[in-house]
Amino acid sequence: MFHGNVLSASNLGQADKCPAMMHLPWPKFTNKYMEEGNLKHRFVQDWINHGREYALETHVSGREDYSPLSVCNLEDLFGGVFDDLISEVSFSWDPKSDTAEEIGQNLDRDYPDQPGQIFGTADIIRAGKDSIFVDDLKTGARPVSQYNNYQLQFLALAAARAYGAKQAYVRLLWMDETGHITTHDYIGLDAYELDQLADKFKALAEDVADGAGDYIFGEHCARCPAFTACPKQVRLPKALAKISGDKITPRTLPKAYSTYMAAKNIVKTMGEVLATAVEQMGPVDLGDGTSLECTPGSRKELSAKPALDTLCKFLGPTAIPDGVSVSKASIRRAVDLHCPSPQLFKDIMDELEKEGAFVVKETRPSLKIKKVKDD
Ligand code: SF4
Repeated sequence: MFHGNVLSASNLGQADKCPAMMHLPWPKFTNKYMEEGNLKHRFVQDWINHGREYALETHVSGREDYSPLSVCNLEDLFGGVFDDLISEVSFSWDPKSDTAEEIGQNLDRDYPDQPGQIFGTADIIRAGKDSIFVDDLKTGARPVSQYNNYQLQFLALAAARAYGAKQAYVRLLWMDETGHITTHDYIGLDAYELDQLADKFKALAEDVADGAGDYIFGEHCARCPAFTACPKQVRLPKALAKISGDKITPRTLPKAYSTYMAAKNIVKTMGEVLATAVEQMGPVDLGDGTSLECTPGSRKELSAKPALDTLCKFLGPTAIPDGVSVSKASIRRAVDLHCPSPQLFKDIMDELEKEGAFVVKETRPSLKIKKVKDD
């Protein structure tokens, strides 16, 4: 019988949105992106523990696909001194007593069976006299926000309690696909703020303990690890079938719309689940003269620096305010604001193309049906 999943730093945010998901089975799967993320974590860990040359030799040497790691700028962080850093440290925190302990290093998220505890692993820890510094490494296509980040907050709390520190400093390091790491300043949490976090996570642990069967539906469902086992999602096609045009009234429309949006979500997520499976298995013969294959996806994106130079030429230096990402949509908005003209927008796009401001980025693979060739 299934008894629930381990509540840990990485699933606290999702569990807060729908505690019931912790009581459903989660199918285990890995994909190329998760493997890449794991490798980048091991690379940084080995660099900290054994030095850059060792990390390069172990993870990059002879592997063209991971060559971006050779330009990784980790030496620019921590003042280039790694002696006082500890990597991959796991903690358990007891919500009832608000106490924590370090339970080991390099556990590979294999936490002990201790119901009621919350676990977490800090990628990098540095202990000061009264303070603790926690760095969490993120990989992936886009940076993650540090704001109200449950994972960082929990790691700050657990590490501070485990080492008896009065304050904690946390930040995210984001390694992009070129191997370059960018980061924000540390967020400081004092003793009062750590106490508030302890209250928050204690309440969350209680909600999870009491939350079986209480499914809370929303946009977060698209990232739910229990998605394919969720009874609420399974009932969705039935609810969808009940929507018919002649029954839609102003009163029934909001519910019909939320059912429609949920159905879109389920279809998208199922597509990703299938694409991941086909990516791992290779082409699958469907038995009707066709096969299901996974084809790599790509998308054209604007590279910020050359794009901004071109935009300055056409619209002036303040056309795209600082902090706004440069995209086709933001350029269109800037053109509409400064000098509305479809021709101007087209001219800018042509110039950007000529200047090589567009870069092709790899995206998640998609499914394609192909005819099976006769031998
Ligand atoms: S799919 Fe949504 S409603 Fe179902 S368990 Fe996950 S988060 Fe909760």
